[in-house]
Formats: sequence, C-alpha cells, structure tokens
Amino acid sequence: MSFQDKTIECSDCGNTFTFSAEEQEQFQSRGYTNEPKRCPECRQARKSERYGNSGNSYGNSSNYTPSREMFPATCAECGKDTQVPFEPRQGRPVYCSDCYRKVRVSR
Ligand SMILES: [Zn+2]
Ligand SMILES: [Zn+2]
Repeated sequence: MSFQDKTIECSDCGNTFTFSAEEQEQFQSRGYTNEPKRCPECRQARKSERYGNSGNSYGNSSNYTPSREMFPATCAECGKDTQVPFEPRQGRPVYCSDCYRKVRVSR
C-alpha cells in the first residue's frame, strides 16, 4: 500500500498543513494509527511547553496538576495514604510513588 500526501487542518490554529506520504510511512512504522491533528508548529510549541517547565518531573508531583481523576489508596508497602491515577482493585496492591519505584526496581 502506498501513501499519498494529505492536507490536514490543524485543530489548534486552523491552518492547513501537509501530512506527507513520507511522514505517514514513519507514523505507521512507529505504530501510530491516528493522523496528527496539529500542524508542525503547534506540535513543536506543545512539545517545548511540556519539556520547558517541568525538567525532571518525577518526584515533584505537587506542582503537577493531572487532569485525570485521582483515587485515594493505602500503600501496601508502608501503609501511607496515597493517590493513584486508577481505581484500586480489590486484591491488587497499591503503592505510594516511593514504594512503587522500589517494588518495580526489585522485581
Ligand atoms: Zn497549528
Ligand atoms: Zn509506600
């Protein structure tokens, strides 16, 4: 199957941009199935926004405002109250971020 250049309207700025056959091929080889929704400029802007102010984001979760709902949980390792971005299931241990790191490493 061959690719053809496509014109896509950016969902951020409304400008149209070309999603070239070459890019489509790259996209597919990386396993992406969705077309990009933003023009290269907006993508770049978002990227630098994300990398620009967070630096080393892990361990500094207080500044981080997730849009996802957080669920209260008790760490199975140290018993501390914590919050997890998914609903804790019965029978599945939940760890605070510190213990989660430890548990993951020791596995
Ligand atoms: Zn744009
Ligand atoms: Zn813990």
